[in-house]
Amino acid sequence: MTPTSPWEGAPATAPRATAATTGQAGAAGPAPALLVTGASLLGERTVDLLVEDGRVARLQDAGTLSAPAGATVLDAAGQVLLPGLVDLHTHLREPGREDAETIATGSAAAAAGGYTAVLAMANTAPVTDTAEAAERVLDLGRAAGLVDVQPIGAVTKGLDGAELAELGLMRRSRAAVRVFSDDGRCVADGRVMRRALEYVRAFGGVVSQHAQDPDLAGPGACCHEGELSGRLGLPGWPAAAEASIIARDAELARLTGSRVHVAHVTTAEGLAAVRAAKARGTDLTCEVTPHHLMLTTDLLTGYDPVYKVNPPLRPEADARALREALADGTIDAVATDHAPHARHDKEHAFVDAAFGMTGLETALAVVAETMVTTGLLDWAGVARVMSTTPAAIAGLADHGRVEVGAPANLVLLDPAASTTVDRERSHSLARNTPFHGRTLTGAVRSTVLRGRLTATTPETSETPEVHPC
Ligand SMILES: [Zn+2]
Repeated sequence: MTPTSPWEGAPATAPRATAATTGQAGAAGPAPALLVTGASLLGERTVDLLVEDGRVARLQDAGTLSAPAGATVLDAAGQVLLPGLVDLHTHLREPGREDAETIATGSAAAAAGGYTAVLAMANTAPVTDTAEAAERVLDLGRAAGLVDVQPIGAVTKGLDGAELAELGLMRRSRAAVRVFSDDGRCVADGRVMRRALEYVRAFGGVVSQHAQDPDLAGPGACCHEGELSGRLGLPGWPAAAEASIIARDAELARLTGSRVHVAHVTTAEGLAAVRAAKARGTDLTCEVTPHHLMLTTDLLTGYDPVYKVNPPLRPEADARALREALADGTIDAVATDHAPHARHDKEHAFVDAAFGMTGLETALAVVAETMVTTGLLDWAGVARVMSTTPAAIAGLADHGRVEVGAPANLVLLDPAASTTVDRERSHSLARNTPFHGRTLTGAVRSTVLRGRLTATTPETSETPEVHPC
């Protein structure tokens, strides 16, 4: 039987005959066997791993497996093996802004960054607020053949904040939408948020909230409200705009018995609201972006629009609180908020430039740098926050684990390799990375989607190659 959605099982069609000799991914079906040797699984034990028919067939101590005839062999000595990364928050811009990103180019950036699944945000043009729109995103993702692209549905029609979108029809569509968000905007009307939560509860869905009270974060706000925003003459968002919505939504989750996910939490005040909700047993999860873990509001002193992002960069005290909260489990997941923009939308005076940063290709290295080299997380912890928990929140059963019988969705990284980020070598169409010129430690070596190599980076190169179908 042909699966109706990538989340319901691996396709089982004939492998492509040339895949073993070229090392190229074949989207037509599971690749020939793949043997990974000497990899450090979750940084804990050294293993050999054999992939057959797109699934993990054997997983045992290093040096105990040999390659079947025709298998591709990856010598992964010194490399860490994690489940393929899952991004709960990606903007792919298609349909409507294909000059900024397409589903194909965003998928390439994702594969290069170690991702095997991304959730595509709904604020495209037109908005993903119908079953047909969601299925179109799913189909374009499959055609690109590099990562599983799972559409997020809008909460309200056209993101208008007033009338619920076709939540049930999107859920029952081929795209089997489980996550709904008006991201870019907050579902500010408490009555609308309540109704959305009641609706998605019926099918185990979740509402991902851009927690930012628009009445407190007034028009023109473009940075963190504080001493620096006053000095720079830029209108700011107070931390209370985030914390107040998180607290309200936690109450609505309790009232409805439904699930809330807080997108890109950024402040210590917001974390306090998350902690209070979790302490009461509320069904609430939250995510943090790599850029909010590493970058802080003082970067704005040069008015460089590459640092303009929504929600804004916060002071170091908040960034430290986010890192500690990710380490102690208050924050459940890392999500990129990959927000590609065409140059002509980003290269303006700070107040006029578009909000957002790209992030798919640098996320793993930024997490390695901020969380692993500092001793806050080990690699098993990275797997939890960048793969296993995001897959669970989104209901993606094919992702988030490395175990015998599971689909072979994997990433191999060299924790010691350092890479200087060069925006011109990005697979994204966009160039708005805040990390351009920075040297980051930790490089993706191979990404594997259902046994197919979707990205590889030779040890002699800093630039991943991607292998679309
Ligand atoms: Zn976003």
